[in-house]
Amino acid sequence: MAQKRALLDLSKEELGELLAAWGQPRYRLNQIWRWLYVSMVSEIDQMRNLPAALRTQLGGQFVVTSVSPLRRQRSADGHTEKVLLELADGQAVETVLMDYDGRRTVCVSSQVGCALHCAFCATGLGGWNRNLSAGEIVEQVLYFARLSRGGSRTAPTERTAPTERTAPTERTAPTEPTAPTERTAPAAPAQPITHVVYMGMGEPFLNYEAVRQSIAILNDPEGFALGVRRVTVSTAGIVPGIERLGREGLPIGLAVSLHAPTDELRNRLVPVNRKYPLAQLIAACQAYIERTHRRVTFEYALIDGVNDAPAHANALARLLGGMLCHVNLIPVNPVADLPYLPSPQERVVAFEGRLRERGINATLRVSRGADIQAGCGQLRGSPRECETLVSA
Ligand code: SAH
Repeated sequence: MAQKRALLDLSKEELGELLAAWGQPRYRLNQIWRWLYVSMVSEIDQMRNLPAALRTQLGGQFVVTSVSPLRRQRSADGHTEKVLLELADGQAVETVLMDYDGRRTVCVSSQVGCALHCAFCATGLGGWNRNLSAGEIVEQVLYFARLSRGGSRTAPTERTAPTERTAPTERTAPTEPTAPTERTAPAAPAQPITHVVYMGMGEPFLNYEAVRQSIAILNDPEGFALGVRRVTVSTAGIVPGIERLGREGLPIGLAVSLHAPTDELRNRLVPVNRKYPLAQLIAACQAYIERTHRRVTFEYALIDGVNDAPAHANALARLLGGMLCHVNLIPVNPVADLPYLPSPQERVVAFEGRLRERGINATLRVSRGADIQAGCGQLRGSPRECETLVSA
């Protein structure tokens, strides 16, 4: 039997064209869209206000989703959760939910595996397998959004005040209860996910179209309504991707995994630097800032004895001086099979201080979720260390 397509893979335009071709009235598009991204149903049959014939027609060709959870793990401090999601073809990716500082952030994967082989990253160890579709990316966000809304084991405290964390000013919520044609449509749940970061497995700019489409779907004001300012795309430094995102003219957050202040060192740690060296990368970031007026974040994982000396901090400050940017310092997360260790605390603090003295905005990030291998660069997508099996 041919595999059915996932409805989540359709852009709003594609879904609209399909419904028009089927002779459906225009309002069906919004009805279905709301079932998918406001009610977040997982079955076509749950779309109660659609005529049975339309549900049957949709069900003949589509499913809502094509991914299913294999395993869910939660960090000891309860703030980080990781799920291994199985895709229709049996591949798997990991997605992380981080719940702290009043934010609920989903960290999504954009590819199965990664082709870039950064020296200290677990994902690159297994190589690149395939790109994710837009629907597979969106589904990672919906997975945690459904759990949060449903009041599950995940976030019991959220149930009492689900709207409080979602900064009502950015949401388009007022349209939801009033839309007159939507009388029979489902009530809008609070959208409890506040931010989405493309910092899971893979390189988002080597899967540009699907990443871009997934952002458009999540951003749609009639649906999930996540403001683009709450989305951050992280890249290892694919310059054409940064340029292309800049041309979109949207204030999407950009993070760049820098990790080294010189080409010589960066060539070793982030090998894609050989293709797009620092001068090009920094110029692309400058252009991005000019177009979007958004501060760029530079990620810098501090590795014991590799990139954490005072001279590295000085060189980094020179490289970034005068830029509208922010440096996120994080002691490297240890990865099995890789030799790198985190810098000791005093060196981390000294590095941060040196950057600040030189006028660079820098903060130390606490690494979360390392106990469940959910920290930066620890995602592999293989059911290696099996713990809590997902039952629902
Ligand atoms: N390919 C993109 C998206 C992945 S984001 C990118 O490189 O930005 C994952 C982030 O975790 C990147 O900043 C990456 O450099 C960082 N990272 C990888 N391995 C790490 C490790 N062992 N410790 C800390 N950060 C790591």
